[in-house]
Amino acid sequence: MEKELKVVPIKNGTVIDHITAGQALNVLKILEINARTGAVVSVVMNVRSKKMGRKDIVKVEDRELKPEEVDKIALIAPNATINIIRDSEVIEKHKVYLPKSIEGIIRCANPNCISNAEREPVISKFITVSENPPLFRCFYCERMIEDVSGYL
Ligand SMILES: [Zn+2]
Repeated sequence: MEKELKVVPIKNGTVIDHITAGQALNVLKILEINARTGAVVSVVMNVRSKKMGRKDIVKVEDRELKPEEVDKIALIAPNATINIIRDSEVIEKHKVYLPKSIEGIIRCANPNCISNAEREPVISKFITVSENPPLFRCFYCERMIEDVSGYL
């Protein structure tokens, strides 16, 4: 008999579900959660998902995400769902949204790009080429970025 994995439900906080398998630690990075923050966090990696094959889940207690954090999560986990929990009830559940163009969030990997200019850099702008798997193209120099986790 297969053992079912149970994760303790949280009273208040956020459950980020349907994270692309392997991206949970990058989600923690986006949320700036590390050993020093003291946040109560549960991370589940590579669990079976009917919809996705495998997925990761992150639960953060006593915290609701800022819109800019949700926007960044969409870039690495376009299927993620954000569940906001208050008094043990899911009061809000929504899918992240990956826009067609993204301004000011991703740093271009090309050091010669005008968005990386030392003097008067322009605000970075990326075009979403593919949502799943994610692929982005710099509007200025056309450099492609697949995994943006190192460029946020
Ligand atoms: Zn560029």
